[in-house]
Amino acid sequence: MSDEFLTPDEHVLSTLESDGSRRWLFPRLSRGHYWYLRRIVGFALIAIFVGLPHLYINGKPSILLDITQREFTIFGYTFLPTDTLLLALLMIGIFLTIFLLTALLGRVWCGWACPQTVYLEFVYRPIERFFLGTSGRGGVPNSKVPGYRRAALYGVYLLLSMGLAHTFLAYFVGVERLSQWVRQSPFEHPGPFLVMALTTGLMMFDFVFFREQLCLIACPYGRFQSVLLDRNSLIVAYDTIRGEPRGKRKHELPIISEQQGDCIDCGLCVRTCPTGIDIRDGLQMECVHCTQCIDACDEIMTKIDRPTGLIRYSSQEAIEGGKQKFLRPRVIVYPALLTIVIAIMVVTFANKKSFDVTLIRGVGIPFSIAQDGHVENALQLKIVNRLEATDELNVTIEPETLKLDIAEKVILDPKATKTVPIVVVANRSDFQGGKIRATIQIQSTQSNNVRRVECQIFGP
Ligand code: SF4
Ligand code: SF4
Repeated sequence: MSDEFLTPDEHVLSTLESDGSRRWLFPRLSRGHYWYLRRIVGFALIAIFVGLPHLYINGKPSILLDITQREFTIFGYTFLPTDTLLLALLMIGIFLTIFLLTALLGRVWCGWACPQTVYLEFVYRPIERFFLGTSGRGGVPNSKVPGYRRAALYGVYLLLSMGLAHTFLAYFVGVERLSQWVRQSPFEHPGPFLVMALTTGLMMFDFVFFREQLCLIACPYGRFQSVLLDRNSLIVAYDTIRGEPRGKRKHELPIISEQQGDCIDCGLCVRTCPTGIDIRDGLQMECVHCTQCIDACDEIMTKIDRPTGLIRYSSQEAIEGGKQKFLRPRVIVYPALLTIVIAIMVVTFANKKSFDVTLIRGVGIPFSIAQDGHVENALQLKIVNRLEATDELNVTIEPETLKLDIAEKVILDPKATKTVPIVVVANRSDFQGGKIRATIQIQSTQSNNVRRVECQIFGP
């Protein structure tokens, strides 16, 4: 057996040199139709990300994910721990929407809306190009850049990352608290300061060092593509039928010969690719559908007087000469499931009251016999006040033969949770088969909302 290392015939990973070291990518910028559109979308998303924590709806932050209080406010509605079902439905709805969008539009999220792509391509990389410049083909950075420009680049990166980290933190603590904290010493709020510092560090690591590796080796979404996409999903694709056989264009030939395809093998689509792949090898997991190769190739096709679209948005079916189908099982099943989830959410929302109640039965003996012969069931009502005001609740029980003992008035502070012990007293003679069906009614004096809790009272 040979003890020589095996060497691949061709490169297997776009970001690996043949000696196993990392191949750093400095993609050439291709300013084309899609790039301008993506830039508009990207800046709009950045504005939304930065602006949302400052936006208030119904007097509440538009988004506040208060983990310490276990309260998530999303567009003016506050999800409490008792809203697990709604939150679960919301998450299922988000996943179904992603599945549907991917089935229809491929990796549109990766190329147009993912923060990794948006910030890297429209914020961090332009700053890098400004400070380091580019030289030669492929946007290789200028190695003769003076040290102070490099230092300035990292300084700007750091400030930017800190700004983004503060914005990120605002989603969890709110802008008011955050603006107080930034005026105080970090030692007065070490926990949040550490979160901010950690987020800044992670951003620096990602946007300075890790970059495309996040899409290639860390992001789970890219791995799901093979199951989420089908042959009719929209993808960025190279038209092999039109492009092959590829070949360099001879200077003396103004018109491409009939034996030659439209691809002149200029390599621009590869040099512009932020993940370093060659789209002409077919659909690849590394392709984030950023459309840079479309813009690069359209530029070349225009120059050599050929129709644009050699690389274009298409589907595997269409690019191979078939007919693209819009209606497929997954395009019917995902919206159907999404409709069901939305319908359940609407019904659940419609039944929401100003307070939530959970009946808790104590463990152990279900009833006791009092000295006067009455049967007593000791229960607890866990009540969550969803209002921003103090609320007093009236608790009654049916049938009228039952009596309810509550030690004190049920008064809850704004958004407070209280566990109220109650004792249900029943006549021994009223039990049939050791049970009485009962309804506990709780009514808010603030909102007049009523909740009825069905239960069984146990006896001998
Ligand atoms: S192959 Fe094209 S669309 Fe895919 S990542 Fe590279 S440049 Fe973007
Ligand atoms: S940019 Fe177009 S012409 Fe140039 S190599 Fe890529 S596919 Fe061929």
